[in-house]
Amino acid sequence: RTVYVNGEYQPETTAKISIFDRGFIFADGVYEVTAVIAGKLVDFPGHMARLRRSLFEVELALPHSDEEVLEIHRQLIARNALEEGLIYLQVSRGAADRDFMYPAEDVPPTFVMFTQKKALIDNPVADRGQKIILVEDQRWHRRDIKTVQLLYPVLAKNTARRAGADDAWMVEDGCITEGCSNNAYIVTQEGTLVTRELSTEILSGITRQSVLKCADDLQIRVEERPFTVEEIRQAREAFSTSASGFVNPVVSVDGTAVGDGKPGPVAHRLREVYIRASRAMAI
Ligand code: PMP
Repeated sequence: RTVYVNGEYQPETTAKISIFDRGFIFADGVYEVTAVIAGKLVDFPGHMARLRRSLFEVELALPHSDEEVLEIHRQLIARNALEEGLIYLQVSRGAADRDFMYPAEDVPPTFVMFTQKKALIDNPVADRGQKIILVEDQRWHRRDIKTVQLLYPVLAKNTARRAGADDAWMVEDGCITEGCSNNAYIVTQEGTLVTRELSTEILSGITRQSVLKCADDLQIRVEERPFTVEEIRQAREAFSTSASGFVNPVVSVDGTAVGDGKPGPVAHRLREVYIRASRAMAI
């Protein structure tokens, strides 16, 4: 693969960043993951806008315009002949002697991007549905910032795997916040789509934003509010959304079937409509 590191395109085998990089030492950085289908970027303006917001919230400056960042994405797609997969972008507060205080003004941020080939549309998980477990949400309370500080979701996903599940959803005060790397939804017996409202307690998913638009187009009733663990047990279906998973049905929670235990029609329809809209809007 060809990767991008601080202004240069390099083979992944020789690309280097410092062992003193603050992303590595302090998780002092932010990131984005954007899907690529048919060689084009899905929801790019949304990801770019969220990156700007994350940078602002952690007081980091990226010396590139939106157009330049788009151009790097495009170069990586072209140089790697990427048809379908993901582009990872990370900005950290540069490399300096280890010190909690920000480094001197002249220390440039570290800006890294790379591609990851992955089948996104033909995904067996979307056909069989995900099994999830519930874990307590032990993350910090600025989950609206997309920081590289992902230790808790790493631990939780591996707990899920050991339990024979695919993912974990996180619970706070009896309500679901979100998945480890996705936003969480249920469909009630009345057919209402319920997903937690935006706040500092969850990440504002770019896929969430687009999928809610699709739901609106399909005239599905949507309620943005927290939902309880008990409501999942009563729900007709459940699913998650993310840039890497699009819309993924959830078929069981802590070993109990959701609805009839099969991927639900609302999740299926939203996945189809979202993928069609993404293809049409990709740049
Ligand atoms: N919540 C969390 C905690 C995530 O890590 C992600 C994926 N980055 C999402 C939600 C979904 O966001 P998006 O749709 O922008 O991928």
